[in-house]
Amino acid sequence: MNTRQEWMAFAELLKLPSAMWLNGKPFDGTGSDRHAVVSPHTETAVSSVPSATAADVDFAVAGARDAFGSGVWADLAPRERGTVLLRWADLIHQHRDELAVLITLEMGKPIVQARDIEVRAAENTFRWYGELADKMYDEAPHGLRGAVALVTREPVGVVAGITPWNFPLTLSSWKIAPALLAGNSMVIKPATQAPLSLLRLAEIASAAGLPDGILQIVTGSGGSTGETLARHPNVDCLTFTGSPDVGKKLLTYAGESNAKAVHLELGGKSPQIVFADAPDLAVAARTVAWAITFNAGQMCTAGSRLLVQDTIAERFVATVTAELARYRVGDPFDPATEIGPVAGPQHRAEILNYAREAVREGATLVLGTLEECTGAGTYLEPIVCTNVRPDHRLFQEEVFGPVLAVTTFTDEAQAVELANDSQFGLGAGVWTSNLSRAHRLSRRIEAGLVWVNCYEEGDMTVPFGGRKLSGHSVDKSLHALSKFTSMKTTWIHL
Ligand code: NAP
Repeated sequence: MNTRQEWMAFAELLKLPSAMWLNGKPFDGTGSDRHAVVSPHTETAVSSVPSATAADVDFAVAGARDAFGSGVWADLAPRERGTVLLRWADLIHQHRDELAVLITLEMGKPIVQARDIEVRAAENTFRWYGELADKMYDEAPHGLRGAVALVTREPVGVVAGITPWNFPLTLSSWKIAPALLAGNSMVIKPATQAPLSLLRLAEIASAAGLPDGILQIVTGSGGSTGETLARHPNVDCLTFTGSPDVGKKLLTYAGESNAKAVHLELGGKSPQIVFADAPDLAVAARTVAWAITFNAGQMCTAGSRLLVQDTIAERFVATVTAELARYRVGDPFDPATEIGPVAGPQHRAEILNYAREAVREGATLVLGTLEECTGAGTYLEPIVCTNVRPDHRLFQEEVFGPVLAVTTFTDEAQAVELANDSQFGLGAGVWTSNLSRAHRLSRRIEAGLVWVNCYEEGDMTVPFGGRKLSGHSVDKSLHALSKFTSMKTTWIHL
């Protein structure tokens, strides 16, 4: 499909998910409440899904527990589980247009990015873990006297997942693929705003041969369905991607229920640090602009703080703003669109408030408008504010929108101090040609991900995660498997 009209015509033909997915089939729930799924582009409902009651959550967890206990999945040889994941990846590929449309409808991501970045990432995730299935080993320490000790990894049992709306398919896939490869069952609650693509992914899983009950999707609000799931005594482990405020609550729920393991991937306020000796300032400017506008800035790793050396600041900011001014903001079904709408009207108002407040407190608006645009669709042009100080909320808090906060530094020491003056520790970009400086900064920056002369590079082989208020867990790579397995030591006396 090449045009907006072709995508729209295709979207019209799709039957959108409107029920939960439990025990291998749609489930309407036992309650009468439903949540509308609202397109940020038209601001009208495109579908609705049930609000799971506590009884529904119990039913989902019980189904997952039964499926786990039956051994229908956990007792398969890893290679057999891998085969299902590989078939699943193939089906994701076959259904990539449809999945992309669901993402675009539910959260407004431009259709080409939805298909070629988000859906492809989900496909790659299932393929990577599927291929890994029969290439993992347990351990036995060498040369114990009179004994053999086996260090083995077992599935934890029932894993709960709670996920956000900004990458509804990829982030869930990063959890589902390793959790299921390890032999667990899973119950996931997607964000209220964006449940459609995940519901379809679960349906596709059945077609790939995933046994019923191994992947359960419950829908409903975080405050009721999510809390019930997080407090559930029959859930062994909880994996979460979302905001720090909710992450903290989940730790409390776990502490007040069965002390389940909780793995948190939270927000960020990532610096992009540009030194005067950057190898190519034009590439740096283009990347800085991209890193605050991709997904309309609704990225945990958004490069939302530009820290730029004072000697080049004026020229560099001018280049960044010129880059940003070229981005096409608009209808996400238009393949030429680069920035779609932000998630909703309330979210847009909150984003604008950060910029307005910073300007009131002395920052300078150098790109964008602080007024809401009129008409349907929660659109927002990129905003750049210079003279942002560390005491501004715009410097410290996650905005989750296309707002770049610019602060200058004089030397390396100040750059590090500013970078680390944050409760978050997710990503950081460093632009320099000085190899020693690149290594020094990589060591001294308090972040889980440091990109030198690039930004947002990633691969399934490499872990993704943060520290400080950005969470303490990782998705992707071999390392993600450890959160979905329990270690066991068995001693055999000889
Ligand atoms: P959110 O408000 O924290 O919501 C995330 C999920 O938690 C949603 O499913 C939400 O349900 C649910 N939830 C809300 N309150 C809950 C409660 N009391 N108990 C249980 N579940 C609850 O985050 P969001 O607005 O969807 O996503 C944006 C945040 O995610 C940002 O902070 C962003 O940085 C972070 N994020 C982090 C990463 C990473 O890998 N580190 C990646 C992407 C996004 P409802 O939808 O019903 O509210």
